[in-house]
Amino acid sequence: MSLKLLANWKLHGSKSFYQNWFAAFNQSYRGSNHDSLGIAPPSIYISDIARYSSNPGIAIGSQNIDQFSSGARTGEIASRMVKDAGGLFSITGHSERRMFFNELDGDIAAKLDLASAASLIPILCVGESSEERDQNKTEKVLEMQVSNVLRACSTLHSLTIAYEPVWAIGSGMIPEPEEINSIHEMIKDVVQSRFSNIDLHAVIYGGSVNLENSKSIFKEKEIDGALIGGASLNGEEFASIANIFNDLKGL
Ligand code: PEP
Repeated sequence: MSLKLLANWKLHGSKSFYQNWFAAFNQSYRGSNHDSLGIAPPSIYISDIARYSSNPGIAIGSQNIDQFSSGARTGEIASRMVKDAGGLFSITGHSERRMFFNELDGDIAAKLDLASAASLIPILCVGESSEERDQNKTEKVLEMQVSNVLRACSTLHSLTIAYEPVWAIGSGMIPEPEEINSIHEMIKDVVQSRFSNIDLHAVIYGGSVNLENSKSIFKEKEIDGALIGGASLNGEEFASIANIFNDLKGL
């Protein structure tokens, strides 16, 4: 399974929300295969949705896991619990986690190792802030984020990276698709040249992806997919984006 198009529902949803979401998605999705699709709902719904979605088979995963496997960690969720609940992947290092929950590169590395140990597909988010972009530091910052995290991993062997410029998340603004393409090329180069023990499955883009801009994004060769927040809350829109993805990427 190679996840390429991920929905991040953040702190949204309810039982009736996901039932309506799947009804809308199933009406609009034209693809015959769901192998590249995933949804990260609030963790409390992972188990329910994993059962509910076993047909059509969209992978369910978590938006975060704890950096410890067990212990006195009130309120946290361990990677093996996500797996136990039917989850297949975990997002780590989302910029909202870094900003609001003070996650550091070392914590994120521990999460990636634990995700991998629990046989969850690990997704690492990286991205520059608007200040860093204004100071032309984008490439340097991304190179540091990727290298610092991967250097601190000890057992991680495969990975998907989501490039999510912080200023593009939820803002309606995106970099030029050609610019995203060359950043993805750079990220692939950093991983392949410095971390040959890690199999990089895909580099996907996140930040204000929607039905209007998805075509121009998926046309780019090095953009392997997308992590979608706001637009993924609408089952019909997510299905339509997935249809465009399948058409352009030949899946
Ligand atoms: C995200 O937070 O991962 C994201 C990409 O959000 P949005 O699509 O709403 O910008």
